[in-house]
Amino acid sequence: MERVDVAVVGGGPAGTAAAWTAAEHGANAVVIEKGVPRADRDGPGPDSTDAAGLLDYWIDIMEFGTEEIPEDVRLRDLDGADFIGPSESFQIDQTGIDASYPAFGVAFHRAKFDDWLREEAEAAGASYRIGDSVTDVETTIDGTHEHRILLSSGEEITATYLILADGPQRTITTDVLDQFTGDRKIADVLNPTKVNHIAYQEHRRVPEELYDPARLKFWWGIMPGHTAYPWVFPNDENIARIGLTMPIGLDIGDYNPDHWELLRRDDEQIPQGKVYIRRLLEREYPDYELDDFPLVEDRGKRGGTETYPISSTRPIESPTAAGIAVVGGAMGGTSAFHEGGDHVAVRTGKIAGRLAAQEHLEQYNSEWRDALDTEFLRNVTMAELVQDYQPSDWDRTFGAARTMFNRGEYSIGSTARAGLTGLKMLYGYKRTKSRFKNGNYIQFRESEYSV
Ligand SMILES: Cc1cc2nc3c(=O)[nH]c(=O)nc-3n(C[C@H](O)[C@H](O)[C@H](O)COP(=O)(O)OP(=O)(O)OC[C@H]3O[C@@H](n4cnc5c(N)ncnc54)[C@H](O)[C@@H]3O)c2cc1C
Repeated sequence: MERVDVAVVGGGPAGTAAAWTAAEHGANAVVIEKGVPRADRDGPGPDSTDAAGLLDYWIDIMEFGTEEIPEDVRLRDLDGADFIGPSESFQIDQTGIDASYPAFGVAFHRAKFDDWLREEAEAAGASYRIGDSVTDVETTIDGTHEHRILLSSGEEITATYLILADGPQRTITTDVLDQFTGDRKIADVLNPTKVNHIAYQEHRRVPEELYDPARLKFWWGIMPGHTAYPWVFPNDENIARIGLTMPIGLDIGDYNPDHWELLRRDDEQIPQGKVYIRRLLEREYPDYELDDFPLVEDRGKRGGTETYPISSTRPIESPTAAGIAVVGGAMGGTSAFHEGGDHVAVRTGKIAGRLAAQEHLEQYNSEWRDALDTEFLRNVTMAELVQDYQPSDWDRTFGAARTMFNRGEYSIGSTARAGLTGLKMLYGYKRTKSRFKNGNYIQFRESEYSV
């Protein structure tokens, strides 16, 4: 049986970053990644959504220097983002948050990003086992802690520290944590069937005259459901990911098709992702046919398309006294509001890996909060604020935001110009935010575990 200091379940950005820093700090670390095929990667790799976006300040959150992310990982710099409602829209050209990166953000190749993190982790001395799944973990606590990790190959690994980085599906996390919970179960708090969203995306070549290579586009208020929205993310050449996020399990009967532009009166169920995308393209580009946006089939998971679970929830703390840290998407670190989560994944992974190597994992919950409190607070507040938004709410908000923020730049004078709606927006944001202050966005506290 192999024995290691730190075992990491899952080799996405969170798990790989954890193994990287654990090895850098002298620990014997192993990552176990089940491995999935992708058209744009040789051999199996982690379950990476393809090209993705990072905002300028997220790169600082990941503690990467401006030039540290290799050039072939970075596809292109971004200039800004467009938010489009049923009839109003507004644009931002800056995030408004101090950042070292010189552009608004960067579109990057997620599979290459994951591969780069893996190379760094291996160069630091960690091992990365691909093609084997963790099927179970048995934890013994007897003065100290030990984890017996069972693999689908029949092999076993014993580890002093366990880092759970199995992403939003939490194939292992839920059961491991629930051995330490009482009446309130992690399965209830983070249950994927209740709280998860689904993300669906297509890689399409966009006609040159329509293609905006440096802007992210998000549509809000045209499809039903909390934080349900389509988007376009530019990749390389004139290829974009055109996709959407939506909650699973919505009932079409709860929504008036006349209110939501991407619904039709004869819909008998909530449309599938591909139907929504077709309707989005028809709405935006009425003079074009779907064939004008050909699918790029040599990308993604299946013929140019990809479906992912996405965790729409709030973060939890870890039972560090058991020698366990939950990181990234598994801990509820991906924002329900804008889907961004690679920065949180890398940072929580880096903190957990280092602390496990230093045998100070008890500091993990307070360290990730110090590093990420502002980010979590902002994202959770935004997601909460738009909970019951109807199409007209999006229009009103975007109209006011356009007046209040001059392409991202805020001033008190312009808020006054936005009138009552602007003031209400500001007040609503502040009031909601104050509810989540002092870590109140955390769904499950360390003190609730019995270890
Ligand atoms: C469509 C989509 C678009 C997104 N766009 C962006 C974006 O633009 N910017 C951004 O910052 N974030 C984005 N995100 C969010 C980002 O992808 C996640 O926040 C990030 O992947 C979380 O990293 P992670 O390492 O925690 O989990 P994951 O990346 O989900 O990795 C978990 C890994 O664990 C492995 N695994 C699971 N169970 C086991 C097991 N039992 N044994 C072995 N291996 C296992 C899986 O195969 C997987 O590789 C997007 C997400 C989606 C779905």
